Amino acid sequence: MNKSKECDFCMKTLDVKKNKREDKRFCDPVCKNKYHSYKRSYAGILIDTGQLDFQTVKKLIEKNY
Ligand SMILES: [Zn+2]
Repeated sequence: MNKSKECDFCMKTLDVKKNKREDKRFCDPVCKNKYHSYKRSYAGILIDTGQLDFQTVKKLIEKNY
């Protein structure tokens, strides 16, 4: 298994030995929060600029949750 992981937000290498949790994806809770708010913002921008159809998003979300 690959021991070296990078934070999904800032790309900093995570210390997996210190953090036993295998599913850790962020170096800091701040990065986690930013990651999710950026994702939401991005979807919002795409919808506002007409690059993404909101009904498509809605269908996908409702299918998955
Ligand atoms: Zn980070």
